[in-house]
Amino acid sequence: MDAMRITDAVLGQSVLFFRASGFKQLLPIVLSTITDPLGPDPGSSVIKTGEVEYLGQRLVLTQSMILHKQLALKRGLDKIFILSPNVRLEHPKRKESGKHLFEFTQIDFEIAYASMHEVMHFVEDYLKALFSVLSQDHSDVLKKYGRSLPELPSHFPVFKLSDLQSEYGGQWEELKSKEMDVPFWVVSHKREFYDREDPKQPGVYLNYDLIYPEGFGEGLSGAEREYEYERIKMRIERDAKEGLDASKYTCYLELAKEGMVPSAGGGIGVERLVRYVLGAPHVGDVQLFRRVPGERVAV
Ligand code: ASP
Ligand code: MG
Repeated sequence: MDAMRITDAVLGQSVLFFRASGFKQLLPIVLSTITDPLGPDPGSSVIKTGEVEYLGQRLVLTQSMILHKQLALKRGLDKIFILSPNVRLEHPKRKESGKHLFEFTQIDFEIAYASMHEVMHFVEDYLKALFSVLSQDHSDVLKKYGRSLPELPSHFPVFKLSDLQSEYGGQWEELKSKEMDVPFWVVSHKREFYDREDPKQPGVYLNYDLIYPEGFGEGLSGAEREYEYERIKMRIERDAKEGLDASKYTCYLELAKEGMVPSAGGGIGVERLVRYVLGAPHVGDVQLFRRVPGERVAV
């Protein structure tokens, strides 16, 4: 029940903070013709995308609302957030990571015309405000778990992914996370077509992950987005060579033809954040209804 108290506090404070920062809260969608492809990524272990057939249409379960966030901004909204349930059917080996769930909730947000640096600073301010409320109002729970949330610096350390890979190899996330005592950023990951590649420096990606310290690992992914039709088309075609089924994104491309709004945003994994706050061994330990890859669903 302690985990539920902290989850409730995180959700309540997050909604207050995002609203006070001028965001509109949208309702999530769970079924669509399109969703986040989560790749191509050789490191991904999602074994399939959940889908249902309904009245002759194949609909997929939301893996993230990234594409719908872009479409929402196109309708004229400029700062949005969603408490968004995501279904990512991970390989059972992910049980061991301590941080994977096949169903979780993220605070998914997007800001029109923002740069990656604006988003990173916003997230830093959000976490500072959140940690200070949790430390004040829930000190009894934190004490019970032997936790004290760190004093956060005004800006978090930033590392380039390629530098961490050269220094630590493939296990960089775990090793660097164990070494740090404050959250930090890791920038420039080659990943999905919607994360913007710097047109002036091909191979540099304007994206970021937030990594919690003490070995808890990734807590947020986000990016500036590709918004120009020709670039989105090029990125989808490039990913198609690595296995993306481009035909699934024709409706998205058609909409992109009318013009997308430049934006940046990210998604904060709620259960991972609560796990870090409580220092729980596994992220499934903070869920009321466990959704751990490789474990059978009880209820
Ligand atoms: N929500 C993330 C984003 O905004 C994507 C993800 O869920 O990994 O980039
Ligand atoms: Mg991620």
